[in-house]
Amino acid sequence: MEWHSLTAAECEKKLGTAKEGLTQAKAAHRLREYGENILEAPPGKSLLRRFLEQFKDFMVIILLLAAAVSFLTSWAQGDTDYIDAVIILLIVNVNAVIGLVQESRAEKALTALQDLTAPHAKVLRAGQTVQIPAQQLVPGDIVLLDTGDLVPADIRLLQSVNLRVQESALTGESQAVQKNESVLCQPQTPLGDRKNMCYSSTSVTSGHGRGIVVATGMQTQVGHIARMLTVQETPQTPLQKKLEATGKVLGIGALVLCGIIFVMGLLQGTQPLDMFLTSISLAVAAIPEGLPAVVTIVLAAGMRRMAERKAIVRHMMAVETLGSASVICSDKTGTLTQNHMTVVEMRDTSGRIAEHSPRERQLLDYAVLCTNCTVDGSHILGEATEIALCEAAKNKEMLDRQFPRVREVPFSSARKRMTVVVRLPEGRFRVIVKGAPDVLELLCRGGCAPRQNREMASRALRVLAVAVKEISTLHGVADASLESGLQFVGLIGMEDPPRPEVGEAVSLCRHAGIRPVMITGDHAATAAAIARTLGILTNGSVISGFELDAMPQDILTKKIYDYSVFARVSPAHKVRIVQAFQSRGEVVAMTGDGVNDAPALKAADIGCAMGRSGTDVAKGAADMILADDNFATIVEAVREGRGIYSNIRRTIHFLLSCNVGELLAVFISFLLRLPLPLVAIQLLWVNLVTDSFPALALGVEPIDQDVMEKKPIRRGSSIFANGLGWSIIVEGCLIGALSLLAYTIGRLFFDCSLENPIIGRTMGFAVLSLSQLAHAFNMRSDTHSLFERGRPKNGKLVAATIGCAAAMAAVVAVPALAAVFKTAVLSPLQWLITLALSLCPIAVIELEKLLQRDRPVTQKPTLLPNTSQKPNT
Ligand code: ATP
Repeated sequence: MEWHSLTAAECEKKLGTAKEGLTQAKAAHRLREYGENILEAPPGKSLLRRFLEQFKDFMVIILLLAAAVSFLTSWAQGDTDYIDAVIILLIVNVNAVIGLVQESRAEKALTALQDLTAPHAKVLRAGQTVQIPAQQLVPGDIVLLDTGDLVPADIRLLQSVNLRVQESALTGESQAVQKNESVLCQPQTPLGDRKNMCYSSTSVTSGHGRGIVVATGMQTQVGHIARMLTVQETPQTPLQKKLEATGKVLGIGALVLCGIIFVMGLLQGTQPLDMFLTSISLAVAAIPEGLPAVVTIVLAAGMRRMAERKAIVRHMMAVETLGSASVICSDKTGTLTQNHMTVVEMRDTSGRIAEHSPRERQLLDYAVLCTNCTVDGSHILGEATEIALCEAAKNKEMLDRQFPRVREVPFSSARKRMTVVVRLPEGRFRVIVKGAPDVLELLCRGGCAPRQNREMASRALRVLAVAVKEISTLHGVADASLESGLQFVGLIGMEDPPRPEVGEAVSLCRHAGIRPVMITGDHAATAAAIARTLGILTNGSVISGFELDAMPQDILTKKIYDYSVFARVSPAHKVRIVQAFQSRGEVVAMTGDGVNDAPALKAADIGCAMGRSGTDVAKGAADMILADDNFATIVEAVREGRGIYSNIRRTIHFLLSCNVGELLAVFISFLLRLPLPLVAIQLLWVNLVTDSFPALALGVEPIDQDVMEKKPIRRGSSIFANGLGWSIIVEGCLIGALSLLAYTIGRLFFDCSLENPIIGRTMGFAVLSLSQLAHAFNMRSDTHSLFERGRPKNGKLVAATIGCAAAMAAVVAVPALAAVFKTAVLSPLQWLITLALSLCPIAVIELEKLLQRDRPVTQKPTLLPNTSQKPNT
């Protein structure tokens, strides 16, 4: 249907829509008929395919090859002992299942997050304006469009005020296009020139309007091309990339070492097949191929937790960056304050306007005529400042009927004012302008009571000025001349109290080495008063947008630390502020809600959009969405980010120190020309089964209480910095040595044959596995003792340890399993020795922590990967 060639009335008739929109019943019926307003994603990968993809891994392929070689050799030798091949296959499959489950959980967490950020639409249903999830829109619905909205469906406009739409998603044209409902297009008019239509997935850059939905879901223009779109793979985060690179280097080293061991083993006369399997198992043990996957799992789990705390992270990368945030630039209204405004005071040049006086009535009436609130019974919908005015006046609907609006120049943060023209009964017109007093000052004859304005602002009041003039004709009058030669009417002061939790969040920031900065469109005095109350303005000073305009960027960069409050700024200034901080090496989080904030949100290291008051465009440009618009939520997200980072470090620390231990135990015994201390199956078991669960449990360790007492993680520092690499090597040596010691004790004192030391192997195997389980508990804190009271518990780690220890005991004690794993049943004395050795890592690390605590503390900066890149959104 060529909707653009039909008049608005024809469209309404064809779609069976009344002036007051569809009824709920009709909408429900159409929803069943037309389906949801969503773009169908191309079908995802099947479960089987995803399971098979787990076998794509290089190490798994080697293992499968090893199983095949083992099977073929046994078969060629006429041997029916296929147990090695079967066990390898079993272990590889168990691993694939674990991988698949973790991957699906991570994916589910991410999809759930996407659902949380799905857009909403304002529609007129049965005469009432309601907000509904955009996916419930149906053809015939009347939709209201506002600046910053994503157009939720294909729409034929019925009304528009300065409506401009950015259609690059469809037409490639990056300039916003002016729309107008009264234009009638030819049927063959190309998409980009259809002025009376707005299309799904484009965005409103200014003005507002309303229109009737003509197509939804796959029937929309973007739906027609949706089938061509492919699902984008989530890009790797910098940390994942770095770990993959590190893993490769370590892997090559490990492979070389395994090659040497293989050759040495052959020279020593070990059976080639045994030697082959052991070398391969060792390679599997030593190559940290699972590291990037662990990071994904920990990040995804962290993102879910953050969403529960109202910080919805849109890119995994942002979680990493959060831990290193060193400056948080926050809007004032709604983020630091409650965004619940109340008119408390009105003034004109002669002083305070008496309550309930005719002057007060007149001032409020003018102000209310210049608002875009919609009144729904006792409920007023709209922007907080305007709601406050309508609540104070209580006569919005009546005034709108009495003085119909004929023109509007919308409010924007850059203009800081809004203008309407209403028709007076006698046929003349009244221009009403409301806005920031210092902006109106230049437009009014005789000024806007600047002294009163300053005095009110210094008491943290948000002040609006109202000015009017009468004109006889509108014909040919430009917006600029509407807004000149005005008559000042009065000032309206509003109170917007700070959010109660922000003061504490600000002081938490300071402890954590993060600089809180206020950026606001409001007056400098208002901003300063609130910033002082919240502790943001202590020794820094306030700078205004006018001063910023006069300051070159290099000077701003130089002086940036002098300022804690930026007042009367417009969105364009935000980009400059972000860049100035970034040039000084800071990692900047920046909040934003409007369409014009998108560049600043993109420029910031962590762009935070407001979930409630933010526009779709701002949300689309942000890395994180604050579901409650709250500053404290950003600080909480930073805490989580730091916690997640240290959990990733814990997991890597654990996995790599265990790998080093396994590799060393085998390598040293070769150097000493001892028989194999561990057989292939045992190595695989430890590495692929008993290690994995504690590692995953460490990834969800509760956040350290002192995580916000450290400095932000330095941008660009290695995950192995701050002694982690060294700890991995030392602790790996300890685990390897303990395992070798157990092996030697068993071999020398309990085994009958020194050449086939089955008890020695069993003890070495058990110590390797159990000491790693014990070591997992060491990872819980770098500084705090395991036995310290009041530390939060990690139930998952306890469960994983009990489960793995029981599995280990079964492998040794159950004869059928012992036969498979080539172990012997141990005597109580042997168990005692095994357990004593296995607990050694705890004793050693506790001692180290004790010694460290006694040393004078120098604050360690925590570490950070280079997370300066951001994905394009
Ligand atoms: P923040 O940037 O912290 O959210 P803000 O809400 O005060 O602060 P803007 O929305 O850019 O920032 O508003 C800037 C100024 O414009 C306000 O101080 C006020 O004087 C004026 N103003 C705000 N809302 C309106 C409105 N709806 N109509 C006219 N003027 C407005």
